[in-house]
Parts: sequence; C-alpha cells; structure tokens
Amino acid sequence: MKNIYSKILVLAIGSLMVSCAGNPYAPTNRAHKKQTNALSKELKVLPPPAPGTSAMFKYADNWVGTTNFNLRRPNLVVIHHTAQDSVGQTLKTFTLERTQVSSHYVIGKNGEIYHMLNDLYRAWHGGSGQWGSNTDINSASIGIELDNNGFDEFSPVQIASLLELLEDLKTKYKIPAANFIGHSDIAPTRKNDPNRTFPWKLLAKKGYGLWYDESITAIVKPLEDSSFSSQVATTELHTILNDSANVTTIEVAKEAILDVSPAVALKIIGYDVTDLPAAIKAFKLHFIQTEVDSTLTDYDLKVLNNLYKKYL
Ligand SMILES: [Zn+2]
Repeated sequence: MKNIYSKILVLAIGSLMVSCAGNPYAPTNRAHKKQTNALSKELKVLPPPAPGTSAMFKYADNWVGTTNFNLRRPNLVVIHHTAQDSVGQTLKTFTLERTQVSSHYVIGKNGEIYHMLNDLYRAWHGGSGQWGSNTDINSASIGIELDNNGFDEFSPVQIASLLELLEDLKTKYKIPAANFIGHSDIAPTRKNDPNRTFPWKLLAKKGYGLWYDESITAIVKPLEDSSFSSQVATTELHTILNDSANVTTIEVAKEAILDVSPAVALKIIGYDVTDLPAAIKAFKLHFIQTEVDSTLTDYDLKVLNNLYKKYL
C-alpha cells in the first residue's frame, strides 16, 4: 500500500514539474510574436512605400487608398521530407535563427501536425527554385514538412493527416490540383524530397496533384508483355535509341512516342529544364519511382506523353 502512495506522489511531483516547465518553445514563441508585430507595422505604413522614386513616376498630390482588398493567398503546396531523425530535431531547426529555414507545417510520424506559421506569411522552405515561370515559390506556396529520414516509407497515419490538411488548404485557398508538388519538382538540381516511397498516385486520386492514365502505358510497361506487336515496337525502338551516333534518329524515335521533345513536355508540366538530366530525374522521382535516373525509357516517354497534356 505504502508503495502505491509513493508512486502516486512521484507521479504528482512529476506532472507538477512538467507544468512548471511549461512550453519549452516559449522563448521562440515570443520571438515569433515580435516578428509578426514588426510585419504588421510594415503593412500599416500609409501611404504605402513607393515602388520607385525616379522622375518617370508621376504621383498624384493626394494619396487615395482603395477600400476593397484583403490579404494575398497561397496558390501552391510544396511537400518535403525533413531528412532528419525526429520531429523534435525539425522543430529545433525551424526555431533557430541561424538556420534560415522554416515551413508552415510539420507532420510527425504519429500524424501529429505542428502549424508553425500562419499560411498568409512567407515561410522559407523552397529556397532557390522554379515551377513554370514562377521563380518565387516561397511567396506563392505553403510548405509542408513530413518527418522522415529521407529513406523510410511514410507511415499511414502521417499520410492520413497530410490528406486532411491538404483538403483543408485546397478548399480554403482554392488551390488547383496541378499545384500540389514536391520540393524536388521545383529544385531538381538540389533536392530529392519527398523520397521515392511518397504516395503521389494516392494523392492525385484524392485531387492533390495530377497523374497519368495508366492504361496508356500498359502496352509498353512490362518487358513481360507477351504481345507480339508491342515487343516488335519496343525492340525497334531500342535498336534506334542505341544508335548513339545518330542524334536526329534518337529524337525521331522519342517523338514517335512523345508528341513534343522531352524538354518541351517537362517544361509544360512545370519543370525547370535548364539542366535536362536533373529535370528528368525529378520527373521520375515523382511519376515513375521504381527507378530514378536521368534516362527516359519508352515506358517513361509514354507516361510523359500522356501527362504533359493534362497540364496544357
Ligand atoms: Zn525540402
């Protein structure tokens, strides 16, 4: 009996210590609040700071503020893996000023969601990158980090939480399906997240991201395909593609499957094709996944040909 009472006492003291300690992030939360106050002050400056002072600008004598406006909204969602070992490590990274990185949301392996920044503020998750002609991804997007070491599969509860969050964001900000992408999509030369186990196909099925019509690839996908005509077609293509001395022939062969060049198709989807091999690799990380390299097989070309038309 005495033993039970001593256990209760230990528990009581323990919980008292936890409540006394409070939120370990209280100091960084104060810094966060200070920063939001500073930004609010910036927004309140009236008349707004002039974009230029050159003689070319002919400003009217009176400032006239419109009465019709609200805050700008995000129109893109970029999904990441943290490449760290725990949520705690990521929360720490995003609250240390010297790291200069952050995201709006962090989702743990247990499905717990940390909302670290109001969606209407600009987080620093994208870095240098491009999607279509948009070169300021951070200004347009919401960043979501998934706790993952960069290699493991994503847990079902983590993906379930992500899907709930995406539904909320999509509805709230009317984000088009095509605008749910990965970090590697916007920065193919620098990034490889989320990793190849990420369920892009499932997301697309739910309306977050686009996917190709799998029936289109069926005739070339497997070498195990026993159809005589498709095997002939594949063999002929390989023969032509292996003729590395004749670049024109390769282009013709690719265009036999692809209606435009690979660079044009990838560009239409949104990829920065300045470094074409990197763009192909990013495309394969997102849409092929079974192999991630910079070679476009006839199967990949089929996928690409079907996919780019969905982005037109
Ligand atoms: Zn990332």
